[in-house]
Amino acid sequence: MRAKYAGERRRVIVLGGGFGGAYAAQELCRLMKRDAEVVLIDRNDYLLFYPLLVEAGVGAIEPRHAVASVRRFVRDGTFVMGEVERVDLGGQQVYFRPVGSDRTAGLHYDHVVVALGSITKLPPVPGLKEFGFEFKTLADAIVHRDRGIRLLELANTLTDAEHRRALLNILVVGANFTGVELAGEYQAFLTRAARFYPNVQQTDIQVQLIEYSDRILPALDEDLARYALRVLEKRGLVVKTKTTVTEIGQDYAVLTSGERVATHTVVWTAGITPNPAIRDIGLPLNAKGYIECERDLRVKGLPNVWAIGDAATILDASGKSYAATAQNAAREGPLAARNIARTLRGQPTEPFDYKPMGSFAAIGHQVAVANLMGRNVTGMLAFALYRATYLSKMPSFSRKLRLFIDWTLGRLAPLEPVQLGVHRLGASGDEEIQIREADKVIRPPSAALR
Ligand SMILES: Cc1cc2nc3c(=O)[nH]c(=O)nc-3n(C[C@H](O)[C@H](O)[C@H](O)COP(=O)(O)OP(=O)(O)OC[C@H]3O[C@@H](n4cnc5c(N)ncnc54)[C@H](O)[C@@H]3O)c2cc1C
Repeated sequence: MRAKYAGERRRVIVLGGGFGGAYAAQELCRLMKRDAEVVLIDRNDYLLFYPLLVEAGVGAIEPRHAVASVRRFVRDGTFVMGEVERVDLGGQQVYFRPVGSDRTAGLHYDHVVVALGSITKLPPVPGLKEFGFEFKTLADAIVHRDRGIRLLELANTLTDAEHRRALLNILVVGANFTGVELAGEYQAFLTRAARFYPNVQQTDIQVQLIEYSDRILPALDEDLARYALRVLEKRGLVVKTKTTVTEIGQDYAVLTSGERVATHTVVWTAGITPNPAIRDIGLPLNAKGYIECERDLRVKGLPNVWAIGDAATILDASGKSYAATAQNAAREGPLAARNIARTLRGQPTEPFDYKPMGSFAAIGHQVAVANLMGRNVTGMLAFALYRATYLSKMPSFSRKLRLFIDWTLGRLAPLEPVQLGVHRLGASGDEEIQIREADKVIRPPSAALR
């Protein structure tokens, strides 16, 4: 750590460059050019545009087009790619491990914004950790595209229809936005790709959506959920409500009804939980582990610590907590930045007050359901609005252009179903190894951090 000298600019550190952190850092850079140094730390150098994650995996867009460089958000600040390890609240230090390094570095802050997001909530279901899949990162999206193809390739070699059906039976657990979209797009992807596999019948493919509550899309209007259900069932998806999975094995899953389903792929999309990294920071957390914030986004009882996005619990004027959405996080970030600037200038802060514009759920085959400013929209119109909205929200012109091209070409010249190569075979040909070369430790000649 470098000592601080009198008259030196103050430093604001933002932890996490997702929807909350990237927009917080961008606004801080705009507001504090002369007054403070802005440092953004994230383990990835990109902002993952989650609403497009399903499409980046089993849909029409290239995975790289679902991310934007996070450096563009801190043009007047500093971006550090590294793993945040802990925060010393008393000493006002953030400790992190720069990417590729095995050494921890410390950085002093005057204000810190915690925007470390959430992870998938994995309940203690036997076999879930060993055999289940998540859907939360860019790697997860690519894994599912590759896996879909591996399953089709293997099924194509089998003469027994029952075995083919077991391989091509995908279970998606959790029927909120991510689950419904993933189930719809996975089924569309497999049925489209199956045309390249002469021994695979369309009837071999089945995607099942498993939901614990009594209906799909519980966050949306009942009418929209009913419409989505009708469309999905008409396409042959199986939707089971008031059901969940109690056990997962390599080639089966057991449901609460007692039914044993032959499957090799169970994807868990039922719920989120705060990033475990925030547990060790020593911030005030509620019973579910989320950071408790004042309405101006300041962490309770800590005048120079702020929290936003999925990791934080922020209440509206009526005492109801804001949902964990990109829409909210992307607005909390800039407000946290403005409130930090106000605090540094001795001005009063403002509370977070935002009314979401609406929500979308795409359900595959260019169909979506949406509630926009209180109005329900369904079908291809909802899908066109969904795409127009996300196109407008995607940061940078070049990313917008690439996305637009992917979507346009998706109709004229669809992507061929090929693997993207996140796996390679071992020398024996049968061992699957994850490529790890990029993760190997890099030792700089000296501790190069300022
Ligand atoms: C598949 C999917 C689809 C979604 N679709 C929508 C949608 O359509 N509309 C919508 O409004 N919301 C959607 N969401 C929810 C939305 O993405 C989140 O609410 C939003 O991203 C939260 O923003 P955040 O900044 O809190 O977290 P994130 O955007 O997740 O950012 C957290 C950042 O912290 C970084 N990080 C975490 N731990 C560390 C560490 N230890 N060290 C360094 N860096 C770290 C991560 O790399 C990440 O960049 C979706 C979520 C998923 C998973």
